[in-house]
Amino acid sequence: MQAYRQDREQALAKTALALMGDVGVVPSPDNYELFYTYASGANPQVGQIIDKMISERRPFTSNVLDDLRGRCLSSERTTQALDNASNQVAATLNALLGKLESAGRDAGDYGRALSRASGELDAAHSPDEIRQFVDTLVAATRTMEARTQTLEDELHRSSEQVNVLKSQLEDVRKESLTDSLTGVANRKAFDTELLAATAETQENGETVALVMIDIDHFKSFNDTWGHQTGDQVLRLVAQCMSENVKGRDTVARFGGEEFAIILRRTTLQNATRLADQIRAYVESKKLIKRSTGDVLGTITVSAGVARLGERDTPASLIQRADSCLYRAKNTGRNRVVGEGESDLSEMDAA
Ligand code: GH3
Ligand code: MG
Ligand code: MG
Repeated sequence: MQAYRQDREQALAKTALALMGDVGVVPSPDNYELFYTYASGANPQVGQIIDKMISERRPFTSNVLDDLRGRCLSSERTTQALDNASNQVAATLNALLGKLESAGRDAGDYGRALSRASGELDAAHSPDEIRQFVDTLVAATRTMEARTQTLEDELHRSSEQVNVLKSQLEDVRKESLTDSLTGVANRKAFDTELLAATAETQENGETVALVMIDIDHFKSFNDTWGHQTGDQVLRLVAQCMSENVKGRDTVARFGGEEFAIILRRTTLQNATRLADQIRAYVESKKLIKRSTGDVLGTITVSAGVARLGERDTPASLIQRADSCLYRAKNTGRNRVVGEGESDLSEMDAA
């Protein structure tokens, strides 16, 4: 069994390395991890994306590799980081408990020294004997003082350590909810937030709207200007959305070149207007490639907007917003369609 596993691991390692050579990826440990995962078939998402990259002959640039790692392996990393952090918290607390126990023992010794001294003081007669007791007491008190000071310092250091660990855990938590390429919420955070919004609508009738936004003809943009420039555009679109929403709203990367915005306390009409404001804002940006000064022209987006109903599940709401988005694509792109309306330009003309 052991030998079988070793053979299989060796075969996987060979396949991974050969593939990295074929597609021109530097065999760094990080890249190896990704391609080994691919070769093992253990992560279907890694499999799908790499297969697609290979069949479309897209280059594995360092940005693409970073993004792939972020998307496919980050949940394992996050779990590891969380494990490390909580192990450290546990170790710090155990050490602290040990110190408190030994301080308790020292305090007990001190108490016993005091009562012994007071008993002996009753029986003492000569000034020498009394001085001796006093000396004993002073020595015991000094020991106790020193011990207390050390304990205080140690407690202080430990609580600082716990604070550092707490903030590390918070960073890890934030990272696990953020899309590494664009900095907006990732799909996991979006799913959680939409589920919460659905519950609120059912409980207190909160008005919530969902906007699905997709970049127009993005494939041909990538084909013309390259995947890395495409990634910059994804960042720009994410920024345009974030700049136009309030703190209570959630801007998320839904997947690939598709984004979603959950708008709290917002009617369908206002959500549609906001989506159109974002659409116009994206269109107004003149794209220039910084490295070469090439004029890349403009990029446009299409959007679909739906209102969360009391009977909606997250899936049914997404589906309605998606079919509005589909209509926006089919009626010329660079436009917004809200459910129950044909599109915003027609609504405004009416
Ligand atoms: P449409 O207007 O119908 O939406 O056309 P499209 O070309 O945008 O749509 P399609 O679904 O055919 O292609 C989506 C493209 O998005 C394909 C892929 O190259 C690109 N894409 C997806 N994820 C990423 C990414 O992380 N970075 C970059 N640069 N491109 C991506
Ligand atoms: Mg698109
Ligand atoms: Mg798309």
